[in-house]
Amino acid sequence: MSGTLIIITAPSGAGKTTLVRGLLERDPQVNLSISYTTRDPRPGEVDGRDYHFVDVASFRALRDRGEFLEWAEVHGNYYATSKVWIKEQIAADKDILLEIDWQGAQQVRKAFTEAVGVFVLPPSLEVLEERLRGRGTDNDDVIGRRLLGARGEMRHVGEFDYVILNNELQSAVDDLVAVVRAARLRYVNQHTRHLQYFDFLEQD
Ligand code: 5GP
Repeated sequence: MSGTLIIITAPSGAGKTTLVRGLLERDPQVNLSISYTTRDPRPGEVDGRDYHFVDVASFRALRDRGEFLEWAEVHGNYYATSKVWIKEQIAADKDILLEIDWQGAQQVRKAFTEAVGVFVLPPSLEVLEERLRGRGTDNDDVIGRRLLGARGEMRHVGEFDYVILNNELQSAVDDLVAVVRAARLRYVNQHTRHLQYFDFLEQD
């Protein structure tokens, strides 16, 4: 494959969604995978654009038919990546971005060892707490649980190739754009992209 598979993972409150939106605006070659989820749509979310929203029975049926590249339970809901869509994109040499949690990232890495993993960290735990509080109505208990959960997720940062601290949005988007560009230039990708050229170089 010459297309690049990029995984982006972050705890909630790290600002990943805004960051991804920034990347997609700057780099139209990147195609974002639309996941399946059993959670309810949030206000403003559109089925087929933000997620494929399905009920638990449909999710299980799809999963049992082997339709998913990976799946995980996150915060009490199911999430999964479509296998067919990924295969189509890979066949068309497209760059793919998966916005998934660390459990999904582990599964994808097993199937695609050349996938590039990016972990987005909030600038500090204090800032994370402020952001989670800033969301509004949650009580201390809920926020405490979220913080603990986020710390647990952040412990997986070492499994990723790149780490972006999302301190200032524009600079974090620049970082992500740079990672994607660099990933495209890796030997494995360039070799597949310019096969004849490389074959020629390897001849005696
Ligand atoms: P949210 O419900 O806030 O959109 O997402 C909650 C969490 O689920 C986030 O960490 C997000 O990255 C993760 N997630 C979204 N889609 C997928 C997916 O297809 N697979 C996995 N494993 N996690 C996902």
